[in-house]
Order: sequence, then C-alpha cells, then structure tokens
Amino acid sequence: MSRVDKEKSVNVQVLLRCRPFSDDELRSNAPQVVTCNDYQREVAVTQTIAGKQIDRVFTFDKVFGPTARQRDLYDQAIIPIVNEVLEGFNCTIFAYGQTGTGKTYTMEGECRRAKSGPEGQLPSDAGVIPRAVKQIFDTLERQNTEYSVKVTFLELYNEEITDLLAPEEISKVALEERQKKPLPLMEDGKGGVLVRGLEEEIVTNCSEIFSLLERGSAKRRTAETLLNKQSSRSHSLFSITIHIKEATPEGEELIKCGKLNLVDLAGSENICRSGAREGRAREAGEINKSLLTLGRVITALVEHLGHVPYRDSKLTRLLRDSLGGRTKTCIIATVSPSVHCLEETLSTLDYAHRAKSIKNRPEVNQKMMKSTLIKDLYGEIDRLKAEVYAAREKVGVYIPKDRYQMEENERKAMADQIEQMTASLETNQKQITDLQEKYDSELQHSADLSKKLEATEKCLDHTSNLLSTTKEDLKQAHYNLKEKEFIISEQKKAENALAHQACVLRSELEKSSRDNASLHSKIARGDKLSAANRSVVNSFQADLASKLDILSSTLTASIDQQNKHLKAVEVLCQSCVDSHDTATLEIKKKILASKSLYMSHMEAFQNIVLLHKANTNSTLEDVSSLSAASCCSLDQLLACVEGEALKIFTDIQSLLADHRSELAHFTKELRDSFCISLDRTKDMSSFILGLFEKYTEETSKLQNHSNHTHEAQVKSLEEFQKAYEEQSKSEEQRLLADITSLVSKHIVRQRELVDVRLNSLGDAARGNKTFLDEHTSAMEGVTKDAKRKWEMFAEQAENDCKVGSSFSSAKHCRMETIMQECACTVDSAAQQWKKSHAAVNDLCTKQVAEVEVLVRGAIENNEQHEAEIASSRALAEEQASNSSKEILQDIDSNF
Ligand code: ADP
Ligand code: MG
Repeated sequence: MSRVDKEKSVNVQVLLRCRPFSDDELRSNAPQVVTCNDYQREVAVTQTIAGKQIDRVFTFDKVFGPTARQRDLYDQAIIPIVNEVLEGFNCTIFAYGQTGTGKTYTMEGECRRAKSGPEGQLPSDAGVIPRAVKQIFDTLERQNTEYSVKVTFLELYNEEITDLLAPEEISKVALEERQKKPLPLMEDGKGGVLVRGLEEEIVTNCSEIFSLLERGSAKRRTAETLLNKQSSRSHSLFSITIHIKEATPEGEELIKCGKLNLVDLAGSENICRSGAREGRAREAGEINKSLLTLGRVITALVEHLGHVPYRDSKLTRLLRDSLGGRTKTCIIATVSPSVHCLEETLSTLDYAHRAKSIKNRPEVNQKMMKSTLIKDLYGEIDRLKAEVYAAREKVGVYIPKDRYQMEENERKAMADQIEQMTASLETNQKQITDLQEKYDSELQHSADLSKKLEATEKCLDHTSNLLSTTKEDLKQAHYNLKEKEFIISEQKKAENALAHQACVLRSELEKSSRDNASLHSKIARGDKLSAANRSVVNSFQADLASKLDILSSTLTASIDQQNKHLKAVEVLCQSCVDSHDTATLEIKKKILASKSLYMSHMEAFQNIVLLHKANTNSTLEDVSSLSAASCCSLDQLLACVEGEALKIFTDIQSLLADHRSELAHFTKELRDSFCISLDRTKDMSSFILGLFEKYTEETSKLQNHSNHTHEAQVKSLEEFQKAYEEQSKSEEQRLLADITSLVSKHIVRQRELVDVRLNSLGDAARGNKTFLDEHTSAMEGVTKDAKRKWEMFAEQAENDCKVGSSFSSAKHCRMETIMQECACTVDSAAQQWKKSHAAVNDLCTKQVAEVEVLVRGAIENNEQHEAEIASSRALAEEQASNSSKEILQDIDSNF
C-alpha cells in the first residue's frame, strides 16, 4: 500500500541574502564591499590585498540584495519548499551567517512589533516562519481535508537542548529546574532522533503562531540577558509537523506526514573562534561544538569522505536527515555589506558555496494507515501511563544517584557505541552495495568483453575473407590502374581536343567580332551612301529649279512671241482692212469716174441723140458693153482682192497652226523633260529603296548569320558538353567500380573546370549575340527611318512633278483654246469678207442687168418714145445719180 517516491539526488539549495546598511554602519560611513546581482545570481566581494583591488564573485541558487523584501525572499524561494512539505516531504531551512546579518530577521522577522497588521494579512516584516505557517494553513483550509499541525521550538546551546515552548505555568522554580535540566536526545528506533519530553504544541490557526514565537523568543531573550549574548551562540530549531488525512479509493484512510525544520543557527563567527581555540574550547564547555561539527559534516559530505561525523554534535544528529539524507535542504546565508564584516562575509560565502555541492535524496514520507497511527498512539499512551503510574506510586526501580549516573553514562556510552556501530554498519553496507554494484558492473563488463570477443572473432573471419577478396581486388585494382592510366591518357587527349575546340570556338568568336567590325564598317558605308544620296537629291533639286527657271523663261519667251504674232496678225488685219478701204475708195473713185463718164456720155448721148439719133443704138450698145467690161473689171478686181485676202487669211491660219504646233512641241518637250526627271527620280527612289531592301536583307542575313553562329556555337557547346558528359559518365562508371573517390574527385574537378569554361564561353557567346542583336535592331531602326523619310520625299517629289506637269498642260490647253478662238475669229472675218464680196458681186450683176435693162428699155423707148427722151433723160440722170449714190451708200454700209 505504501508508496515510496524515490527521487533523484538534488543539491542543497543555497540562497544568499545581504542586509542593508544598519544605522550604525551608515553613521560610521562604512564602505560597501558586497554587491549583489539578483538577476545573475552573483555576489561580488571587493577586497583590497596589498593595495590591489580584487573582486571575488560567488554564484548561488538565488541572491537577494539589500533591497529585497521579506516577501520577495519568501515568494521566490520558500513557497516551493513549503509546497513540498505539504506533499509529504521533510524539508529544512537553515539560516547561516555572522551575528547581526539578519538570520533571525529572515527566519522570524519582526512580527511582534507589527502584530496589529490587517486582518488575515501578515506584517511586511514577518519572516519565513509566520509566512510558512500561513501558507500551510491557507493551503490546508483550501484543500478542505482533515489535518493537524504541530510545532516544536527548541534551542541548542552548549550541546544542551532547551524547549522554548515549555509551559511556564508551574512555577518559577520549576522553570529554572527545567532550564537546568536539558532535554535528552533519543533514537526513535526508525533511524531518526527525537527530543524526549519536548513540548509539541498543536496549532489550529495562523494567528497562534505569533504568540508561540513570542513565547519562544521571550524565553530566548530572558536567556540572553541571563547568559550574556547567548543567542549569538545558540541555535534555534522551529519544526512544523503536518499530518493530512487522505482517503484511498478502497476507503482506507491514510495519513500523509510532512515536516518543516526552520533553523536559526548560531552566529558563524563562533565557528572560527571555536576552531581557533579548539583546545580551550573543550575546556570552556564546548562553546559551539554543534556549529563546528556542522562544518565538518559539510566538509565530509562535499569531499565524499567515508565517515560523516553526524554523531559528534547534537545539532548534526538532529538535522542528520537534512544533510545528505532524505530531506530537502535549503541554506540561507546572510551577510552584511559593510567592510567591517569583510572577513566573516568571505568565510560565510565560502561556507555556503561549499554547502551547495551537498547532495540529498529527498523521499516522500511513508503514508501511514490511520489504524496503525492510532495503534502507535495507543502504545505511546500506555507507555506514558506506565511512567505516570510509576512516578505517582513510586513503584519501579530505585537506585542510588551515583549508580544511576554511572549506569546512565554507561548507557550513554553504549548508545554512542551502538550509534557508531550502526554508522559503521551503514558505511559497511554502503560499501557492500558499492562493491555489489561494482561486481555487477564488472560482470556486465566481462559479458560485454566476451560479446566483443565474439564480435571480434567474427570480425577476424570477415576480415580474413575480406583480405582474400581484397587481394583479388588488388589485382583487379592493378589491372584497373593500368586501365585507368590508359583512360587518363585518353582523357588527356580529350582535354587536348577540348582545348582545340576552345581554340576553334575562340577563333569563331574572333571571326564573329570581325564580322561585327565589318558590320560596323557597312553601317558607316551606309551612312556615307545616305550622305551621297542626300547630295544627289540636293543637286537634283538644284537642277529641277534651274530647269523650272528655264521653263518659265521659255514660257515667257513663248508668250512674248505669241504676243508678237498676235500683233503681227493685227497689223496684217489692219493692212488688209486698209487695202480693202483703198480698194473701196478706188471703186468709189472708179464709180465716181464712171458716173462722171456716164454723165459725160449722157451729155454726149444727148448731144449724139440730139445730133446723132441714128448712132444712139450703137452708142447704147457701147455703153452696155462698157458697163459689162466695167463689171468684169470690177469682178476681176474683186476676185483679185479676194485672192489677196484669202492668201492673207491662209497665211494667218498657217502661222497660227505653226505656232500651235510649236507650242504643242514645246509642251511635249516640257512634258518629256518632266517625265524624264520623274523617271529619274523614280529610278533614284527605286534604287534607294532597293538599297534599303538590300540593307535590310543584309541586316537580316547578318542577324541570321549571328543567330546561326550563336546556335551553332550553342549547339556545338551542348554537343561537346553532352559528348563529354557521356564519355566522362561512361568512364566514370567504369572507374567508379574501382577507384571511386579518386576518379570522382578528379572528374568532379574536371567537370567543374569544364563547366566553368563552358559557362564562360556560353556567356561570352550569349553576350556577343545580344550585342549583335542590339546593333542589328538599331541599324534596322535607322534604315527603316531613312527608308520612310526617303519614301516620303520621293512621294512629295512625284507629286510636285505631277503638279508642275498638270499646271503646264493646263496652261497649254488654255493657250490652245485662245488660239482656237483666234482662228475662229479669223475664220468668221473671212466668211464675212466672202459674204460682202458676194453681195458686191450680186449688186454689180444686178446693176449691170438693170443697166442693160435700162439701156434696152431706153433704146426701145428711144425708138418708141422719142418725145419722152428729154424728160426721161433728166429722170435717167437723176436715177443714175441716185443709183450711184445708193451704190456708194451700199458700199459704205457694207464695209
Ligand atoms: P542575527 O540574527 O543574524 O544576529 P538579526 O536578525 O538580529 O541578526 O538582525 C540584526 C539587525 O539587523 C536587526 O535589527 C534587524 O532588524 C536588522 N536587519 C537584518 N536584516 C535586515 C534586512 N534584510 N532588512 C532590514 N533590516 C535587517
Ligand atoms: Mg539572531
């Protein structure tokens, strides 16, 4: 049923607390030599040795500087310990340090003065003991289980135990009696010790603790006054024992037990003093045997000595379990920061630091069944009853006091002996267990060894097998070595080939760079060509301008010529009209002459009529013939004039036609020249376009070539890489079988080299290509630009030519129409002339006919009416003048 919690060994926990400067120290302005680093858990002590400042640093589990409050120390360090007590462990807390460094302050605190703290709250100066009790009660009350808390409070001075909680009620005599009679220390039969007759006070709540502490401290204080600073040499031990009821699932009631020891040790200065004066110390009544022994026990535990002198003092006997036993232990070392305590401070720090390496194996106390506990208690009651009975009834053995003392001493000696023997037994047992362990380990070791032997034999077999195979392998390896040498030579060859390839690649690269250069030169040539083109265009422009100038001058000249022609035509017309006028005037004159002739004829006729009536007919016939002749001559004249006019007209017409043909020829010439210049421009533009085309073609070719080269390079690189990889792979595989590491290393190195080289070559080729591409694209752009510009220009020039030619043709058309108009006018003038000529002809013939008719009539009438001749003659004269007038008028009106 009982459960034993075996736990791993744990080190004694050591805390360090440095108190603040006291008022005295502050007044005397004592320098500070101790500095605490709470977070680093370090304490540094500054020492000046032979004028040199030396810092000594100690590390502890926890460090509390002067500013640390009671509460901080408790919360950080003590709460877990008390919790473990409540779990059923035994725990001990020591306060160790020089007198006046705050041991009592830490353990008990100054609760008495601040008793009137708030309800349920501890005063801030309360030390570990009241806080632990409060925690215990708080926890137990929270757990709501049955429990009992007992406390004992004893003082150990000069190896004598005094009960600080002993009742004082009996009498002062009894008290003194009691104080004289120290309590004996007894073995409890379970490996522990107990103080016989020690008052166990049952505490039921937290506040009781203060009255208990007060009671104990009061006793200590009295003692202090009585015994002159006894407290600095005495140890006080406050124990809290807790019993907690637990119920098992089976309904059994178990009692869990935990104990907390709180030890306020004597001032550590006593250790040295007692140590220094060990000889006298014994005589002085073992001033502080306990403290000295505690030091020795610690030394023995730290140095793992076989014998630990627990039994040499009462304190170490009481606290045996806490030192290297089953109890969890915590030491609070207290120091003062002042330089006055430097020596003690250093010894305290050393002591505490040493104690850090003590190991305990804490164990949970066995839980007791309630029934056994009750049984134990009954036994105890029976024993006590018997004692009481014996005391009351004075039954029992009475022996003289000397003998009793002797027997007692003997008993003591025997008990001591027994203790020593048990101790030696313990050590023996320990040794036996150690030996057993050693034996076991030895056995284990031998078994391991035999196993190893077996394994080694196996290994040997295997190795010998391996050896034989290795020999074969060696042979094979030799063979392979040769093979490898061959391969290596092959590889070298391949390397050479590689180098050659690289050379080829390089030459190719150089070639490509040369190509590049030629490309550049081509570009330059293209630039030059475009400049030449520009100059050609400029010259053409100048040419065109001059030709246009010539054209305009020719046009003006032609216009002048035309004007001259027109003037000549005008002059001709004028001359024609003038000639016509003269002709008309001549006709008029002739008519007038004929009239006058007629008149004279008439007169002659009259004379003849009068004189020569018979000759009248012949004369008349003469007249009519004369008139016919005159008509004929008129006709002839008219015909002559008409021919002349017609000739003039035809001349004009031919001149006009000539002029027109000349104009047409000129226009044609102009057009031709236009056409030629247009054709030339077209040729030029087509040539330039072709050039551009060639350019682009060349560029694309170049690009293609660069692409091709690049591809070929890449391909060749890839092929080479692939070929190399294949070759090397196959070789590697072959070689791997034999001398893996060497060859692989070699291959890897080589591959790396080749890769690097290939990468660099590929990079160069890529760079080259991108450079070429860039240039090609740039050139393309430039060419395109130029081409676009040239096309624009050619288009414009063509348009200009077209406009010029259309303008000149329009001008020519207009000229032609003007000529036509002119010709038409001339034609119409000729028509008019013909008409008038016909009218004159008509009139002439009519007149001739009329004259003939008239002459005939006159002849007839002359014959018939001789009488009427005189009157008729006047009438005829009148009629003749009238008719001549009419003719004249007619002529005048007709021209
Ligand atoms: P010890 O028990 O080691 O001889 P005390 O506990 O009697 O020392 O302390 C001596 C004096 O120093 C007391 O007056 C106490 O109030 C004071 N003291 C000790 N430690 C502290 C501290 N950490 N804070 C404040 N005062 C302290
Ligand atoms: Mg004290």
